[in-house]
Amino acid sequence: MRLYIATTNPGKLRDFATAASAHGIVIDPLPDLAAIPAPPEDEPTFEGNARSKALYYSLRAPGCIVLADDSGLEVDALHGAPGVRSARYAAAAPSAIGQSQDQRNNQRLLDELRSVPDPARTARYRCVLAAARDNRILFAAHGAVEGLILAAPRGTGGFGYDPLFYLPGLRQTMAEIDLATKHTLSHRGRALEALLPGLAARA
Ligand code: IMP
Repeated sequence: MRLYIATTNPGKLRDFATAASAHGIVIDPLPDLAAIPAPPEDEPTFEGNARSKALYYSLRAPGCIVLADDSGLEVDALHGAPGVRSARYAAAAPSAIGQSQDQRNNQRLLDELRSVPDPARTARYRCVLAAARDNRILFAAHGAVEGLILAAPRGTGGFGYDPLFYLPGLRQTMAEIDLATKHTLSHRGRALEALLPGLAARA
């Protein structure tokens, strides 16, 4: 099976392609994606955004299966925030010169959780992956990985909230584990594992 995925994020592409190759499936980026205007991501749920993106991009590759994902971090003490706003959590916050968007997002997360004790800092990464063909959804699948939000960053790998996302079972943050381990437990890998059998039955 050959699938297209609508992402320009090299980290996500690598995550999905690696997980799919274990099943003999090739995932390529949707051709000319950079030239296609991005659709709005304004649904209130990860699944809503993933579905609407998959439908939108499927019109650009007639007859082909196109995958789209939405992902982010849910923190229990923040009632599920940043959630669908994970990528732009600190968008309205003043930025120190030289700070990246990821650093600003992480700083806001630390500020919001300042008075929350360790046992209550539970969180999870979620990913929803939707597959569409010719403007019709074939299947959608969820993946999640549970963790705790630390009070200070640890590690230099990964991206986004990874230096704050601690995996109690491994006693390491997502930014400290190696890529192979991340692939086996990531929300993206798990969403893909859940998607492939459902897709095979419907494609
Ligand atoms: P998306 O590109 O709309 O799915 O936004 C995902 C956002 O959620 C990213 O910009 C990150 O802030 C966060 N995120 C999702 N997955 C990960 C991950 O594996 N590590 C770190 N941050 C992530």
